[in-house]
Amino acid sequence: MLSHAPEIRGRFAPSPTGPLHVGNARTALLAWLDVRSRGGRLVMRVEDLDGPRVRPGLEARILDELRWLGLDWDEGPDMGGPLGPYRQAERGEVHAAALDRLREAGLAFPCFCSRAEISQASQAPHASDEGPRYPGTCRDLSPAERAARSARRPPAWRFRAPDGPVSFRDRVHGECIFDVAATVGDFVVARADGVPAYQLAVAVDDAAMRVSDVLRGDDLLPSSARQILVYRALGLPVPAFAHVPLVVGPDGERLAKRHGALSLGELRERGVAPAELVGMLAAASGLAPRGARVMPADLVQGFRLDVVPRQPARVDGRGSIVP
Ligand code: GLU
Repeated sequence: MLSHAPEIRGRFAPSPTGPLHVGNARTALLAWLDVRSRGGRLVMRVEDLDGPRVRPGLEARILDELRWLGLDWDEGPDMGGPLGPYRQAERGEVHAAALDRLREAGLAFPCFCSRAEISQASQAPHASDEGPRYPGTCRDLSPAERAARSARRPPAWRFRAPDGPVSFRDRVHGECIFDVAATVGDFVVARADGVPAYQLAVAVDDAAMRVSDVLRGDDLLPSSARQILVYRALGLPVPAFAHVPLVVGPDGERLAKRHGALSLGELRERGVAPAELVGMLAAASGLAPRGARVMPADLVQGFRLDVVPRQPARVDGRGSIVP
C-alpha cells in the first residue's frame, strides 16, 4: 500500500572538533531511536566549518564510535546519498547561494564592527549568555558609509532580526518563545573570513537534506528561534524540533573534560562493552532499568520520546549514573 505520510528524516550532526563523550552518545541514541521507531531515515552530516578547530582523523573516529554503539545511518560522507555532499565544508556553494538570497532580499547586511566595539556599544541589560546583544551599529549604514568602512576591514554578514517574539512548539519543551531581536539582536550568518555561521549552515543544510525532525541537546534550544527566522526568510520548511536535556557531571555542570575520562574512546579502551554503555544511557533516559545491558535495536519497539526525563542526566567520571 502506498503511504502519503511525509517521510521522517532525522540527522546526526557531529562536529569533528572534539571526541564524543557520553552526553553526545546519549543525544545520538535518542535521535536514532526517535527516527527508527517511526520507520524513518537518518542522515549523517559532519559539521566541519570551523576549520582551525577541526582535528584530522576525528571524523572517522566519531563515525566508528557511533557504529560501535550500534547506531547506523542511511546517507552520509562515508556512504554518499542523493542529497550530499554530507560534509559542511564541501557545501560552500549551497551556503553562498543562501547568503546571496538573504542579501538580495535586504535581510542580511554587512557589519564592520569588532567584538570589542560591540561590547562597548551594547547596553548590559540585554546581554545573553552568548554575549551582548548586537547594538545595530551597521544595520542602517548609507552606501557611502559602507564603502568607507569596507576599506578598513572585510565585513561579517548579519541577519536583520525582525522585531517581536518567535514562537514554536518543541516536542520536549512544549511551547517556546524567544525574542531574538531583543536578546541577541541581528545575528551573524557569515563570518568576515567568508565562512558561513552555524545558524545559516545548519538551517540551509537541514532543509536541503530534507530533515523533518531535528533532535539535539537543549543547549541549542535558543538557536532554534534564529534558525526559524532563516528558514522563513528563505521560504524553507521548518522541521520539528526536540531538544533533549544534556548529560551533566556530578557537580551539575554540563559534561566537560574536567569530569574525567568520559570520552567514548576512553570507555571503549577500558573494556566497557557497548551494551553496558547503551544500557547506562538508556537507564539515564528512563528507557531501561539500571544495570541493563541492551543495544539500541532492543529499544526501538515502543520507544517514546515523552518518557525521557526533562531533567539533565548526571554521570560520574567512569560513565555511571549518579543518583
Ligand atoms: N554540530 C553541532 C554540535 O556538534 C550540533 C548542531 C545541531 O545539532 O544543530 O554541537
